[in-house]
Amino acid sequence: MEPEAVLDLFRKSGALLEGHFRLTSGLHSERYLQSALVLQYPEFAGALGDALANRVKHLQPTVVLSPALGGIVIGQEVGRALGVRAMFAERQDGKLTLRRGFMLSPSDRVVVVEDVVTTGGSTRETIDVARAAGAQVVGAASIIDRSGGQQSLDVPYHALATLSVPTYQPESCPLCAAGQPVVKPGSRA
Ligand SMILES: [Zn+2]
Repeated sequence: MEPEAVLDLFRKSGALLEGHFRLTSGLHSERYLQSALVLQYPEFAGALGDALANRVKHLQPTVVLSPALGGIVIGQEVGRALGVRAMFAERQDGKLTLRRGFMLSPSDRVVVVEDVVTTGGSTRETIDVARAAGAQVVGAASIIDRSGGQQSLDVPYHALATLSVPTYQPESCPLCAAGQPVVKPGSRA
């Protein structure tokens, strides 16, 4: 799947909005990305999972591991496309952990899958979870790379599309300066 086709699925489902937005953080941005909105459609989630699986299958993964909550749906789809287990790590006392009886072994080849990689922080943390459990991490993948190439992962990393989502303090927002009205994503204008 070409990057533009991926972004079109996001646009079609309202998962990628372009305009002038006030984010939950209070920062302003000209783009709003909410991948849960594209993944709610089974045919889109399936297509994105197939496409990501194609990008990582040469790594011969035996397990897909995702950080909860954002990575769970796409991780499941990639696992299904590859015919391997899909499991997730979740936060306990602020630290990502394998719970629910999920097990990894030294023979497992793990690929870490997320919806969006921004700084790479949660991807790195998920890689550490797999390594601490004794498994080998063979790669990482996400639908969208919005890190601007700054993710500095120590495993091969694949993304279906890259996207820049600059954010601004309201006082220094160029869109505000241009007099463009700001909207909260999801609100009906
Ligand atoms: Zn603004």
